[in-house]
Amino acid sequence: MQVCIHRGAKEIGGSCVEMEEKGQRLLLDLGLPLDAEQSETPLPDVSGLEKSDESLLGIAISHAHLDHYGLLAKLRQKVPVLIGDGAVRIINAARQFFPDIPGFHDTIELKDRKPISRGPFTIIPYLVDHSAYDAYAFLVEANGKKVFYSGDFRGHGRKAELFKKLIKKPPKDVDVLLMEGSTLGRTGAENEYPSEDELEVQFIEHFNSTNGLTLVWTSGQNIDRIVTIYRACRKSGKKLIVDLYTASILIAINNPHLPQPGFRNFYVYVPQFQRILIKKRELFDIPLSVASCRVYPEKLADMVNSSVMLFRPSMTEDLEKAECLEGSKLIYSLWPGYLKDKRYQWFMDWLKNHLIPILHCHTSGHASLPDLQTMARAISAKRLVPIHTFMPERYKELFDNVEMHADGEYWEV
Ligand SMILES: [Zn+2]
Repeated sequence: MQVCIHRGAKEIGGSCVEMEEKGQRLLLDLGLPLDAEQSETPLPDVSGLEKSDESLLGIAISHAHLDHYGLLAKLRQKVPVLIGDGAVRIINAARQFFPDIPGFHDTIELKDRKPISRGPFTIIPYLVDHSAYDAYAFLVEANGKKVFYSGDFRGHGRKAELFKKLIKKPPKDVDVLLMEGSTLGRTGAENEYPSEDELEVQFIEHFNSTNGLTLVWTSGQNIDRIVTIYRACRKSGKKLIVDLYTASILIAINNPHLPQPGFRNFYVYVPQFQRILIKKRELFDIPLSVASCRVYPEKLADMVNSSVMLFRPSMTEDLEKAECLEGSKLIYSLWPGYLKDKRYQWFMDWLKNHLIPILHCHTSGHASLPDLQTMARAISAKRLVPIHTFMPERYKELFDNVEMHADGEYWEV
């Protein structure tokens, strides 16, 4: 089997791996590079994406983060996309709000540990713990060779059991492990990261010590985090108010265990920019689906002391108009690096002007170094190839049997 990392050998984002056996090929992920615009990023040089080539048998998408599937938007051919049902549901819900997000025609559903055959390839998806819902690692077998592609994973999230399960019963006789290393080079990666349960305790403390509306800035697609926040609300006697986008994602996933409209103390606010979007795109079914728990702007001021609100900077004007910011705190629950971006300077100034303190409450969606090492030892592959990392050169000092391969290089397994 031949393997080529088209992108991701020395960066986080834009992941794309091609595998070739007897002239037939399979792609793992088709991601958009970080900070890149779809319009200016060409597809990787893989036959069958732009022009028809039946030897491309499928594109397996590990999870619904744009750096793993974003370039599907440019796909010009009907290549089957192997993807989890939960991931498709999230992407379809998000597309209603953000039409640039890629859609799918022909999908093959991934299910935990259920093998899928495509020509000479057998793909076994392994459901993993990651900040994206319904995320997979892949074991790809062809002609007696085995490659394990870790995708993005961690061992400290709400699905940490999946990590333990994989470590306890790893696939055997793996020839190559393609393993992500997102956290290498980031401060704190040498230690274990706080778990979502530990974060829940921190959120409870912050909620209890706020005499005003608690704003939480997080991703509407980070389902683990939303569960953490909802649990912390329940334990501190607060109501959770989410925006319409987040509510529609939670509804779309269709998992009765996840917080959603109908749950106790769960409310939905429709910010002005989402109201405009609903009108413009005539998506009137979406607000209807949350009618029973909708909070209108004039009610917000009455709810401040008892509520936690999912927040994004595009909501600043809404909250000013609703006069509900006295005593507010902002809890920032995303990767801290984003905040340093110049485009948020206005928002930092806005917080200062409104005397809103900013607190940090976050844990990584990716594995810590100890968990990466545990994974590498468990899989115990003949060769470990770095991917999805800015620090491939550090792998040799941290793991055994490391072999580096550059973007665009074809190598034999
Ligand atoms: Zn990811």
